Amino acid sequence: MIDVINLKKSFGSVEVLKGINMTINKGDIVAIIGPSGSGKSTFLRCLNCMEDPTSGQIIFNGVDIADMKVDINIHRRKMGMVFQHFNLFNNKTVLENIMLAPVYTRCQELKKAKRHNRLAAFGKKEQIPVTTTKEQIKKEAREQAMNLLKRIGLEDKANVYPSTLSGGQKQRIAIVRALAMNPDVILFDEPTSALDPEMVGEVLELMKQLAEEGMTMVVVTHEMGFAREVASRVVFIDEGVIKEEAEPKEFFAHPKDVRLKEFLSKVL
Ligand code: ATP
Ligand code: MG
Repeated sequence: MIDVINLKKSFGSVEVLKGINMTINKGDIVAIIGPSGSGKSTFLRCLNCMEDPTSGQIIFNGVDIADMKVDINIHRRKMGMVFQHFNLFNNKTVLENIMLAPVYTRCQELKKAKRHNRLAAFGKKEQIPVTTTKEQIKKEAREQAMNLLKRIGLEDKANVYPSTLSGGQKQRIAIVRALAMNPDVILFDEPTSALDPEMVGEVLELMKQLAEEGMTMVVVTHEMGFAREVASRVVFIDEGVIKEEAEPKEFFAHPKDVRLKEFLSKVL
């Protein structure tokens, strides 16, 4: 699904990613661990081109999205992103937060089709069938958002603002907001690092459920338990390089790289 080929990223003269190669297949749960400043967040941000790679390719569903000529917005929709600090819109209700992106993209598509059809009517070109309306799009997005909220037991929070929620609730909403776009993959950057300890479990549990349902996930995490139990592969990034990559059992039982051994001795 995603092929990362020799990905490099520099900020000024500092090379942060020094040639990352990674293949992510459908259903993979890739846990990325590594010391602070090693380039984990930069890697995730390059994956969905929130950060432009300096060089290299990111082949996503057959298209090199690192290529400047590609319309990244179309492809990014299929990559969900969940951040450490939730990044919910505080001036929108929970329901609005979840509905926003699906409504926006579907309304854009509708607008595009209508415009095409207006022009096509003049040029006697083929019409795109338009079977929906703005109201219908909103209605469907609302139903979907309510179903997602039910799934996480927060349907009673639909009309409140994020500031009234706990960290664990905010993060679970951020996760279902990503799900609302029916992504092919979800990227998580330390989704539990900003949470009080008692809220970590509910977020990891939801992520575990998604993993079991076959969602493809790339997770930067300090939660070694999650990496060990849920990941299909664990990747150690150090100083912008993948130093080790293995199935969790092998990874934790027989680390080979010296820096990984040192890292694990500190975190385990
Ligand atoms: P942490 O575990 O602390 O989140 P990380 O592995 O996610 O660390 P990154 O945030 O990817 O590390 O940062 C890697 C390096 O790149 C750091 O030295 C950081 O200062 C640098 N860096 C990241 N973003 C930028 C930027 N926008 N401009 C300049 N330097 C940056
Ligand atoms: Mg980071």
